[in-house]
Amino acid sequence: MKGNLDNQKDVDKIKNSGKSGGMWVRINKGEKKFVRLISKDVVSEWVHVLELGKNNYVSIPCLGGIEKGGYAPNICPICEETKKHWDKIKELKANPKFSSSKKLQVEANFEKDRGKEFQPKKSTVMIAVEGEASIKKVGGKKVTEIKFESDGKYISFTEPQFDKLTLKIFEDYPFMKSTDDLINRNLLFSKVEKDGKKTGKYTEVDIKPSKTKTKAPKVSSIPDLDDVFDYKKEDEIKKILNSYLRLTGDDSDDVDKDEIDEVGEIQEDVFDDSEDLNDLEDDEVDSKSVKESAGDLDDDDF
Ligand SMILES: [Zn+2]
Repeated sequence: MKGNLDNQKDVDKIKNSGKSGGMWVRINKGEKKFVRLISKDVVSEWVHVLELGKNNYVSIPCLGGIEKGGYAPNICPICEETKKHWDKIKELKANPKFSSSKKLQVEANFEKDRGKEFQPKKSTVMIAVEGEASIKKVGGKKVTEIKFESDGKYISFTEPQFDKLTLKIFEDYPFMKSTDDLINRNLLFSKVEKDGKKTGKYTEVDIKPSKTKTKAPKVSSIPDLDDVFDYKKEDEIKKILNSYLRLTGDDSDDVDKDEIDEVGEIQEDVFDDSEDLNDLEDDEVDSKSVKESAGDLDDDDF
């Protein structure tokens, strides 16, 4: 990160940056983790993610801000890049030969895939602590005891995950009455693999609240929500975008003409950009899973 030694906040950030696997709650595939949200504060942004080389992802909050809904071509250089591809699709579809031309359809699909690379995803971040569960016998009864870490961490939610936390959880668990119930109970997060009809295997996060309320754990350090998103200026964004375009190529004439005969009909949903095609976390909504049991941690409380 860039910082300034005259700025105490920057200095603290640099000092903390290498500590204990980061400041984020992470849940791996197949893993269950107890989490306690420690405040109802949230911060949300639409974030463009570009891959500049292997495992080098750059996150760029959309210059349109949260209110533009993730598409601000007149304000944000990356959204403008998306628009170029959407415009090209419109142009291709306006061609009277479009419905009979595989070549035009392949080009439209190419533009669609390319456009999606530049679309942002909504990210909402809160503060939480992670807990470690152990099962103990108390008077012949099995009880899950959860020990929470003392350091607060960031926890990020994709849009479908945040809907689960703020809507679905109240539908599925009648004992959840108000948003206070989100912070006065332990939550069991698990990342499970599902079979998607169209997409094949994908993973999603389930959130299951504890039936009983418990006292908030003691937290000794809390990261600042204001520091979550790395805001960049327009010229900085343009530089990153140009590097990405150089790396990935941006010429639709690159479509391999030999492949054209092998490609089937264009999908109907050229304009349906609601799917999370380039979701790095591979998260998708399947509300049914929220009701699944917590598996091996099945004590009376969960
Ligand atoms: Zn944008």
